[in-house]
Amino acid sequence: MDMDRTIASDQKRVLLLMSPATYRAGAFLSAAKKLNLAVVVGIDLPETLSEYWHVPLGLDFANPQASVRTVVEYAHEHPLHAVLSVDDSASELAAHANAALGLAQNSPRAAEAARDKLLMRALMSQGGAPCPVFRPFYLRDDPAEIARQVNYPCVLKPTRLSGSRGVIRADTPAEFVAAFQRLKRLLLHEGHSEHETVFLVEDFIPGFEVALEGLLTHGQLKVLALFDKPDPLDGPFFEETMYVTPSRLPAETQAAIAHCVSVAARSLGLQEGPVHAELRVNEQGPWMLEIAGRSIGGLCSTVLEFGAGMCLEELILRHAVGEEITGVERENSAAGVMMIPIPSAGILKAVRGVEEAKRVPLVTGIEISAKLNYPLVPLPEGASYLGFIFARGETPAAVEAAIRQAHSLLHFEIRREIPVLRPV
Ligand code: ADP
Ligand code: CA
Repeated sequence: MDMDRTIASDQKRVLLLMSPATYRAGAFLSAAKKLNLAVVVGIDLPETLSEYWHVPLGLDFANPQASVRTVVEYAHEHPLHAVLSVDDSASELAAHANAALGLAQNSPRAAEAARDKLLMRALMSQGGAPCPVFRPFYLRDDPAEIARQVNYPCVLKPTRLSGSRGVIRADTPAEFVAAFQRLKRLLLHEGHSEHETVFLVEDFIPGFEVALEGLLTHGQLKVLALFDKPDPLDGPFFEETMYVTPSRLPAETQAAIAHCVSVAARSLGLQEGPVHAELRVNEQGPWMLEIAGRSIGGLCSTVLEFGAGMCLEELILRHAVGEEITGVERENSAAGVMMIPIPSAGILKAVRGVEEAKRVPLVTGIEISAKLNYPLVPLPEGASYLGFIFARGETPAAVEAAIRQAHSLLHFEIRREIPVLRPV
C-alpha cells in the first residue's frame, strides 16, 4: 500500500493493526475496498524488518508507547478516522492510539480489562455480571497448599493467553497439583517469570456454552449473532469445536444472555466496537466466562452474513467510521463452523477425505490450515487447529449434522514422533 497516495477529500482513512499471522487481513482489506475506505496496515514487525520488507507502518506491539508515537506521527501527515485492531494482539494498542488521537473508542483501561482475565473478573464481579468464584495465585506458590484452599471441580487458567491454552479442569487436589505443574511449565516456556506471574483458579461452571457476537455503540449492545456450542465442554481441556447460529435456546434465555453481556461490557467500560463473549448457561441462568473487545477469531467470521451480502468485517468498518448500523440484521439461514481439533501430538503426514467431506450437503467449505510434515501440538499447550468446516442450511440442527458428517469423513494421519535427545 502506498503511504503517500493522496486520497479524495471525502474518503476516510482507517488504520488496521494486525499481527503478520492473522487469518483476517484479507476479509478486512476487501471490505475496506468495497466501502471505498483508504486503508493503512500497521503490522507487528521490528522496525528493521519493516524497512526491509517495505511495510508502510511497521509497529512493535510489544512496545506500545513507541508504537503510539509512530501512529500519532503518521496521523499528523495522513489524518485517521479510526484505528482498529483486527485481532486481539493489538486491542490495547488501538485503544491507546485512539485515545491519543482523540477518537471515540474503548478506553485503554477497558481494552486492558478485556485482555487480562484477572482484571476482567474483578471488574465483572464489581459490576454485577454473574461469574464464577475466582482466586488469583502466583506460579511461585506451593500447589499442595493451594489445592487445599480451592473448591472442586475447578479450572486453572492463565490470565493472558487465548484459545483455551493452559485452561485445565481439576476435580481433586491431586489433579490440581498435576494441572498446576503443567500450566507452570507452559507459562515458563512462554517466557513468564515464576516470581511475578499470576494465574486464576475458578469454580467450574457446568452447563451449555454459547458465544455472543455483538457490536457496541456508545455502550449500547447490538447482538449480531448468538452461537450455540453443541459439543459438551467438560474438560479437562477445552477445545473450541463447533459454533452454530441461530441459537436453539428459548427466547427468554437468549434475552438473559444478551443482558448478561451488556452488564459485563458496562462493568469493564467497553463502549465501542465489536465484542465476542463466551458464557455458560445452566438452571441458575447465564454466567460470564469472558468478553473480548474484538470479533470472532480465525476464519469463523465467514459464516456470518448480514443484509445485502454484508460481511462482519464490513459491518465493523462501517461502525468504526461512524455509520449507523442499528438496522442491520443477520440473514435468515442457519450457519455453523467447526474448528477441527488436533486429536493427538505428532507430525501431520496426510489428510484424506476432504473431497468426500466437501460433498456433504449443506457443507459450504473445508479449509485445512495445518501444514503437512509439521508438528501438531494439541491443547492445553498448542495454539492451533487442523482447519475449519463451514456449513449453511435451513435449521441449526441440519447444519450441525452436516458438520459432524463431514468431520467423520476426514482422516488425519498423525505420526507420533518420539524426540531423541543425543549428546553432541
Ligand atoms: P481463553 O481466553 O483461552 O479462551 P476462557 O476463559 O474463555 O479462556 O476459557 C476457555 C474455555 O474453558 C471456555 O470456553 C470454557 O469452555 C472453559 N472454561 C473456562 N473457565 C471455565 C469455568 N469457570 N467453568 C467452566 N468452564 C470454563
Ligand atoms: Ca475463550
